[in-house]
Amino acid sequence: MQVFEKIKDISNFIKELKAQKKTIGFVPTMGFLHEGHLSLMRYAKKVTDVVVVSIFVNPAQFGPKEDFNTYPRDIEGDKGKCLDAGVDILFMPSASEIYPEGYLTYVNVEKITDVMCGASRPGHFKGVATIVAKLFDIVKPDKAFFGQKDYQQTLVIKKMAADLNMDIDVEALPTVREPDGLAMSSRNSYLNEEERKAATCLYWSLTKAEEMIKNGERNSAKIIGDMQKIIEAEKLARIDYITIADAETLEEIKTIDKKAVIALAVWIGKTRLIDNIVVNMK
Ligand code: AMP
Repeated sequence: MQVFEKIKDISNFIKELKAQKKTIGFVPTMGFLHEGHLSLMRYAKKVTDVVVVSIFVNPAQFGPKEDFNTYPRDIEGDKGKCLDAGVDILFMPSASEIYPEGYLTYVNVEKITDVMCGASRPGHFKGVATIVAKLFDIVKPDKAFFGQKDYQQTLVIKKMAADLNMDIDVEALPTVREPDGLAMSSRNSYLNEEERKAATCLYWSLTKAEEMIKNGERNSAKIIGDMQKIIEAEKLARIDYITIADAETLEEIKTIDKKAVIALAVWIGKTRLIDNIVVNMK
């Protein structure tokens, strides 16, 4: 595995691979890797010749009161995991390499970033779109892989790639969960034992929604009401949002009569967790 910290060095290496007509698969991450990340890498390995992973805790996507400074980091552990997953290139730039002094350019995807996590975390998706656009330009992937766990993020990246005519196939892969249903996340490491148990309420509320839909319920308000009850029964949990929205536009829908995303963000103590499911109505 080749490890690069400088843009110039990885760019030269990528140029050689391109000259050899190798296809490049890319998995951008913020590190502290878990099975969710590794599933993307293993899939990338199956469908492209060379797998590039980036680890960069992107300051531009954290709000001033958010957890940038405390975000978990484990560079040595991550390197070992990448190696085991068959990663060919690991890119770990510093913040000053990505945002040198005098940096002024940002990418803003409109409208679909105003809702859900975008409403709770102003500026977050501008930071996400900017870093991914920069990494796409550096890595020049044929395919890039993202997790459905961050449904809105994946949609924003797909839209950015389409709108900016980036010739990159952006693929969303399924959410990897712990045995009790909790979606894997680097932030799960913030949870103490009691909070960890409480955190399963996100998954149970989504399971309830899925079951209601299977039994014929189509009324969003009713489904959200039952999801709320499950979360509110958990004393450590506080709802940020629960929404049922059109899977493409992220506009809220009152009746589930098309492909929809059921998404939520919940505070468990001081940790904000997100999860979602997609339901495909004909
Ligand atoms: P992060 O390091 O949290 O920025 O995530 C990097 C990539 O891994 C993103 O595309 C995430 O959507 C994806 N990811 C994170 N958690 C999971 C999970 N539990 N299952 C699948 N993909 C995930």
